[in-house]
Amino acid sequence: MGSGQVSSSGFEGQHVTVAGLGVSGISAARALAGLGAVVTVVDGGDGETHRARAAELEAAGVAVRLGDAATLPEGTELVVTSPGWKPQSPLFAAAAAAGVEVVGDVEVAWRLRGLGGRNAARWLAVTGTNGKTTTVRMLASILEAAGLRTAAVGNIGTPIIDVVLGEQEYDVLAVELSSYQLHWAPSLRAHSAAVLNLAPDHLDWHGSMEAYAADKGRIYEGNTVACVYNAADSATEDLVREADVEEGCRAIGFTLGTPGPSQLGVVDGILVDRAFVQNRQKNAQELAEVADVNPPAPHNIANALAAAALARAFGVEPKAVRDGLRAFRPDAHRIEHVADVGSVAYVDDSKATNTHAAEASLAAYDPIVWIAGGLAKGAAFDELVSRSARRLRGAVLIGADRHLIREALARHAPEVPVVDLDRTDTGAMLAAVQEAAALAEPGDTVLLAPACASMDMFVNYNKRGEAFAEAVRALAAERA
Ligand code: ADP
Repeated sequence: MGSGQVSSSGFEGQHVTVAGLGVSGISAARALAGLGAVVTVVDGGDGETHRARAAELEAAGVAVRLGDAATLPEGTELVVTSPGWKPQSPLFAAAAAAGVEVVGDVEVAWRLRGLGGRNAARWLAVTGTNGKTTTVRMLASILEAAGLRTAAVGNIGTPIIDVVLGEQEYDVLAVELSSYQLHWAPSLRAHSAAVLNLAPDHLDWHGSMEAYAADKGRIYEGNTVACVYNAADSATEDLVREADVEEGCRAIGFTLGTPGPSQLGVVDGILVDRAFVQNRQKNAQELAEVADVNPPAPHNIANALAAAALARAFGVEPKAVRDGLRAFRPDAHRIEHVADVGSVAYVDDSKATNTHAAEASLAAYDPIVWIAGGLAKGAAFDELVSRSARRLRGAVLIGADRHLIREALARHAPEVPVVDLDRTDTGAMLAAVQEAAALAEPGDTVLLAPACASMDMFVNYNKRGEAFAEAVRALAAERA
């Protein structure tokens, strides 16, 4: 990582407490120790994994205190937290009482950016309730197509501190930021930033929808060229209005409809730019075709427009937007077409772990046999079901909280046939796919968009998606 050569970071000799012995905490601890800080990592856990990790860190000169997540180590001058720690954690109350600042890994990375002349690359930042990873990866693909040295970083992949301190040089970074990271990043100032959408999520962490929105809105603070918002989601535009930006920074909207001046949008199947063109009252610039977006589902076109807006704000040519979108391949389990069996399409959107995400993918198909259910995390399903009812051929419900979806279907779509699968064993997904196949008619789509977390039946959403794909392949083999 070469952090040893970086001079005058401001961290030399500073007593830093890192909260959490996970990926982000370990990366922060190593980096700060490498910069000469006196680092103590604290974690409430004290199991075997924790001890093994602690031993490794101690060998690198970092002190580790296990089994106590509440008291602030003597002499602490700065606390660096990990994303999972709630703002109400006792350690932060102790820090506040002692007048000690608490920051996250993104803030540390931002403060280290450009140190020793390295990696002063500007940041194009993305947040939102859903679509962050997809948009950031689309953006990186576009920037690459423009010949820029870039990487998709932040909430995905390599910890951002490692990227900023690394040997690799970049021209610009595509940065995914969670609401947690934004909460703890007070001095972050992106070149340009986008908030894709705002729906209730993680409210247990933030305390309220207002607090959640306010944390998301920090992404616009100090932007220099563009604040990109979703014209169909007025809450995102409100955040732009409230932000304190640099003189000359513009508000740029994206819309699935015809764009107004200073917007990007869609006209006759073409993605067009009416923001970064000469004479935007009269002119529009073609960027790409809807068919260049993979997959061309409405919410994904919105993601592509947001990525395009950030790239254009950075000065990227229209052709690179098209080439980058064409080259982009979505991550697994995000509206992934698994197979066609007997003229029915089988689509895996296992990553739709909340109702807002599921609603987006249900809007992309018609008619649909919907496979849903799992852990509801306190969500209500009435809006999702009433808005999607018209498209449903049928529904197959799995998982612990499936009764909540069944009840919403009974209230808002009583005519839709529902199969309620009362099993959570490993064969349940096979049964679900078989039931869905029986309900589907030629031309329909069987869509796994659970609107729930997976942990009641699967290790994670990846495993849930793999089980679905396996069941579809078994169905295809049976029908062959
Ligand atoms: P994140 O990183 O924010 O979790 P992803 O790009 O991984 O987002 O997408 C997660 C899920 O959210 C997808 O599987 C899809 O169902 C849904 N999704 C993606 N983009 C959007 C969007 N713009 N609006 C609503 N839902 C979306």
